[in-house]
Amino acid sequence: MTFSLELSEEQTGLRDWVHGFASEVVRPAASEWDEREETPWPVIQEAAKIGLYGFESLATCYADPTGLSLPILNEELFWGDGGIAMAIMGTGLAVAGIFASGTPDQLAEWVPQCYGDADDPEVAAFCSSEPEAGSDVSAMRTRAVYDEAKDEWVLNGQKAWATNGGIANVHVVTAVVDPELKARGQAGFIIPPGTPGLVGGKKIKKHGLRASHTADVYLDDVRVPGSCLLGGKEKLDARLARAREGKKAEGQAAMATFEVTRPTVGAMAVGIARAAYEYALDYAKQRVTFGRPIIENQSIAFTLADMKMEIDAARLLVWRASWMGRNGQKFANAEGSMSKLKAGEVAVWATERAIQILGGNGYTREHPVERMHRDSKIYTIFEGTSEIQRLVMARAISGVHIR
Ligand SMILES: Cc1cc2nc3c(=O)[nH]c(=O)nc-3n(C[C@H](O)[C@H](O)[C@H](O)COP(=O)(O)OP(=O)(O)OC[C@H]3O[C@@H](n4cnc5c(N)ncnc54)[C@H](O)[C@@H]3O)c2cc1C
Repeated sequence: MTFSLELSEEQTGLRDWVHGFASEVVRPAASEWDEREETPWPVIQEAAKIGLYGFESLATCYADPTGLSLPILNEELFWGDGGIAMAIMGTGLAVAGIFASGTPDQLAEWVPQCYGDADDPEVAAFCSSEPEAGSDVSAMRTRAVYDEAKDEWVLNGQKAWATNGGIANVHVVTAVVDPELKARGQAGFIIPPGTPGLVGGKKIKKHGLRASHTADVYLDDVRVPGSCLLGGKEKLDARLARAREGKKAEGQAAMATFEVTRPTVGAMAVGIARAAYEYALDYAKQRVTFGRPIIENQSIAFTLADMKMEIDAARLLVWRASWMGRNGQKFANAEGSMSKLKAGEVAVWATERAIQILGGNGYTREHPVERMHRDSKIYTIFEGTSEIQRLVMARAISGVHIR
């Protein structure tokens, strides 16, 4: 087998196509939607019309045997703008939740409904976090009880921080089915459009990614058919039985989703970092102080060199984890966390450096790097904080159950 880091024609084609959309459609709209703090439906619609928002583009990415198409797409879109890109890609988290635990029939039924159609796009939400259960997924309280007589599941609880929560067509909700088994007693459920009892809370006012809707979701006696249990009852019963016997039970709904999406989340952070770096590089060549362009000062040039190196290093970690994930390797415990951790921290650092290089300009709401810096911070929090990624890695390399 030959080793190559060269992208294929399909991959460069995808990159250039998404880059075009990011620079021509996303960037011009970015500041407006950040200020409005609203879901940018017209931009989502444009993305849907060209096939960028929808199941086809995701299926094309999943079909790539190298696993690189998904990070390439995300890097370019987030290079355009984090908030709008999150509004476009947030649905992907719910879809990943269905992919992680659903049957082929469930995929076929629900994934298209997550996106709606090109003229009338919809969004979907993945609801795992709760007010008392963020990093600690085992503390989840939302309960799902099986009503055997009606073959229905009844869900009660409160979800927190759900991207697209309450405005989604399809909600994918994780819940406890056996409290004694803690995280191993959880399962994922589809909540179909318009199901009574599911109510979205007020949109949270955020520091960054303001074009992306984030809200609590309340579940009050939400009844869904048995067929909405992701993976099906037989598989769940077998998994719970294994867990009760103390055997290793895979397929935990929330963690499975977070693990598979870590490299993709890293790619988003890389896109934001690269955009800030490019702005800083251009500016450093143009801005003259003390009679010469500021890039001629070693301190500035070296900072830019470090930014480039760190961003490339983060991207390579993201690509490796994506490749491993696509090729059936058990990447989740160390390499996926490493990629997300590095990319998130590089994005925060690089966008902050870019603000410094831009001087006063960088500190204004007029300049995109100020928004990029705000947006970047989520990548050290979203889907497990940097500390949690370090914890996963430390456990993997030491074999010790570090707390
Ligand atoms: C914009 C945004 C969008 C989001 N979208 C979604 C979504 O779509 N779906 C969803 O389910 N969730 C979503 N989340 C929630 C997100 O995944 C959680 O915020 C995240 O998992 C952290 O949980 P927490 O906020 O409860 O922090 P906590 O778990 O309370 O952590 C607080 C602090 O303690 C640290 N900490 C916790 N445990 C340890 C430990 N063992 N060792 C060392 N340090 C530790 C953490 O690193 C952090 O610094 C979103 C959050 C945001 C901000």
